[in-house]
Amino acid sequence: MIIIEGSQGEGGGQIVRSSIALSLVTNQAVAIKNIRAGRKVPGLRRQHLTAVRAAQEISQSDIAGAEIGSLELVIHPGTVRAGEYQFDVGTAGSTSLVLQTILPALLQTQEISTIRLSGGTHNPFAPPYDFLDRAYFPLINRMGPQVTAQLIRPGFYPAGGGEVVYTIRPANQLQGLKLLERGKIIDRRVRALVANLPRHIGERECESVARKTGWRKSCFEVEERSDSPGPGNVLLIELRTPQVTEVFTGFGEKGVSAETVAARTLQAARRWIDADVPVGEYLADQLLLPLGLAAVDGQGSAFRTLGPTQHTRTHINVLQAFLPVSIDVRCEGDQQYLITVK
Ligand code: ATP
Repeated sequence: MIIIEGSQGEGGGQIVRSSIALSLVTNQAVAIKNIRAGRKVPGLRRQHLTAVRAAQEISQSDIAGAEIGSLELVIHPGTVRAGEYQFDVGTAGSTSLVLQTILPALLQTQEISTIRLSGGTHNPFAPPYDFLDRAYFPLINRMGPQVTAQLIRPGFYPAGGGEVVYTIRPANQLQGLKLLERGKIIDRRVRALVANLPRHIGERECESVARKTGWRKSCFEVEERSDSPGPGNVLLIELRTPQVTEVFTGFGEKGVSAETVAARTLQAARRWIDADVPVGEYLADQLLLPLGLAAVDGQGSAFRTLGPTQHTRTHINVLQAFLPVSIDVRCEGDQQYLITVK
C-alpha cells in the first residue's frame, strides 16, 4: 500500500484529490494520512468528500474514512466504469475539483462518460469552468481524448446551485505534449460575467482593463445571467497563442471595487505575458497528472512555465509516489522554468 503524507508541502486538498485519482488509475491501494494538515480547519470538507464519493461511485472502491473532518482515508480501488453520473457538491463547493478527481480515471476507460455536476462553477482557489473549457480541455484533447463541457448555469459562492455537464471520450493511449515556446498572442478576449448584480460592475471591469491595455473594443464582452441562484461576478481574461490558451480570473467581492478586480486579474495575466512562457502556473499544476500518465506509456513531455508554486512541487511528489516517472524542474531564468516528464 502507498502511504501519502497529507501534511507535506502545501498540505491541502490537492494531495487528497490527486492521490485518489492516481489510486484509481493505477489500481494501487493508498492510505492518505494527516489530510489537509496545512489548513486552518484540517480534514475532509464537504467539497473533498463529494470528490471521494464520486470516485467511489465510478469505481466501486472500498474507501474507509469518508466523513467530514476525517484526517485519514484508505482506498482499495475497484474497477472504474464509464457511464452517466450525477454528483451534487451541495452549497457552492467547486464542481471543477470534483471533476479533477475522477477525470484521469475516466480518460482511461473504454467508453464515453457523461458527468453532470452541481455546485459552484466559478470559485476562487479552484479552476473556473471557463479555464477548464478554454485552457485545460484543449490540451487534454490534444493528448488523444475528447472532453467537452457545457455550462448549464453558473454557480457562485455562497449560493452555489450552478450546473455543468462534461462529456468524456477516452483514448486508448495518452500522447505527451511539448509546449516549449509561447509565440505571439493571437487573440484576446475579456469577459465579465455578472449574475444578479448590476451590469455596470462588468462594464467598469472591462473599461478598466481596456484603459490599461489599449486592447480593441471588440475584445470585451459583458455577460449578464439571471439563471444563477445567487449573485456573483467574475472577470475572465483569455489569451490565445499558437499552442496554448490561458485564462486568468478575478472575482468580484463585496467591498472590492470593479477597478481593483480588473487590476488584480490583469496583474496575473501580465505576469504570464512578461515571462514569455506558454504554460501558466495553474495549467502547469493540472497538466502534470495526465502528462505523468502519458509518460508511463513511454510518451514523454516537456513544457516551459513560470516558477513552480509549492502546490506544483507537492503535486510532483505525489505523482512520483504512484507513477514510475521522473519529473525534472529546471530553472532557466527569472520566472522561466522547464519541466520535463519522462
Ligand atoms: P484546500 O481546501 O485544502 O485549500 P483545495 O481542495 O481548495 O485545498 P488546493 O489544494 O488549493 O485545493 O487546489 C486548488 C486547485 O485549483 C489546484 O488544482 C489549482 O491549480 C486550481 N486553481 C486554483 N485557482 C485557479 C485559477 N484561478 N485558475 C485555474 N485553476 C486554479
